[in-house]
Amino acid sequence: MKDLSDDKNVRDTETLLCHLGRAPAEHAGMVNVPIYRGSTIISETLEEWDDRNKDNPSYGRFGSPLSRALEAAVCKLEGGFRSILFPSGQSACTRSLLACLKAGDAVLISDGVYAPVRAFADNVLSRLQIEARYFCPTKPSELAAKISANTRAIYLESPSSMTFEVQDVPALSAIAHRSDALVIMDNTWATPLYFRPFEHGVDISIQAATKYIVGHSDALLGIATANEAAWSALKSTAHHFGEIGGPDDIYLALRGLRTLALRMKRHWENGLILAQSLKAHPAVDRVLHPALPNDPGHGIWKRDFLGASGLFGIVLKPMSRPQLSVLFSSLRIFGIGLSWGGYESLALLVEPPKRMETSLAFPGPLIRIHAGMESPSELIADMHNALNAAREAAVDGIVPREESELVGQCQIVS
Ligand SMILES: *Cc1c(COP(=O)(O)O)cnc(C)c1O
Repeated sequence: MKDLSDDKNVRDTETLLCHLGRAPAEHAGMVNVPIYRGSTIISETLEEWDDRNKDNPSYGRFGSPLSRALEAAVCKLEGGFRSILFPSGQSACTRSLLACLKAGDAVLISDGVYAPVRAFADNVLSRLQIEARYFCPTKPSELAAKISANTRAIYLESPSSMTFEVQDVPALSAIAHRSDALVIMDNTWATPLYFRPFEHGVDISIQAATKYIVGHSDALLGIATANEAAWSALKSTAHHFGEIGGPDDIYLALRGLRTLALRMKRHWENGLILAQSLKAHPAVDRVLHPALPNDPGHGIWKRDFLGASGLFGIVLKPMSRPQLSVLFSSLRIFGIGLSWGGYESLALLVEPPKRMETSLAFPGPLIRIHAGMESPSELIADMHNALNAAREAAVDGIVPREESELVGQCQIVS
């Protein structure tokens, strides 16, 4: 088998997914790179030791043939210069920020950002004298107005993984680069298959591999990929912190990667058909899904993305907490849980999202849905049945429905 990563005739992602990161000749002919467990790596001669220190891992903390295989595969798919693994997606996010920022710098963060990254910015960056401010994800002009001489990075997540605003990444990147700020983007929703970050101006792209790359809800892992300009800062920061993924988790991620294209196609189809069916349900006020033609982000999604994942939101009409309890306990196929990207369907009641800059007028509760790979007709039936049960509970007077008890909408915090 030849190394296909630089073969100009092999460009189709589906072929690459089956071949990237493999090296049977180096592993007794094994199709897959085996699990390497190790801290110390020994050499026989001083020359071999010097050689190893040039390109190969010289200690377990700097990687193994297995971690290098996953990094090389994801790097090729993302279209970057080099990738590096982290033990979780959150660690990839926080280390990427720290790679770009020092005391006295400022970062502008999309107001729809993943809540734990917001918490890191507000609680940890502030302690390091790094100023974190927020901008409305759908208004590039607001970014331009807020960027200042000490802004060294902007942080995007498109679409926002709770509220699904699609960002104009090329426009935002152009504004950042005019001020010499780097662009970090969380690309977990689309995966490298459906959004090619480096073609749209991103400098560091993050995958919470825990989600679609692992794909089976059985491991945590993060991967950050940089272009050439941002690579040395990302790599040295990762090494300073000394966090690495465990070998079993890396093996599971590389195994998950082989079926990513097939799974994504199914998640996209199931998510879209479920979203379409929910638009018409009388308990639903609005569906937040960029692939729906009337979604505010649809135009940019169509221009920049190559597909959609299975994650989207529904905003309900006002509904009381007891009604929501009926809704969630009526679900039979959907699990109630954090995370997403596994083969299974999930539903989550989202707390009113914290916003610094953007007002979101949601009349009722927001539910985030991950469409898994089950039968689409059974997913539709399960969700519609639960929504019907919640409505009937109010009509039958089983649960109260006074205005004061309705679950609140999102508010601006500052
Ligand atoms: C889950 C998630 C992360 C963090 O990944 P973990 O592996 O759970 O730490 C980061 N960004 C987004 C958009 C996520 O959904």
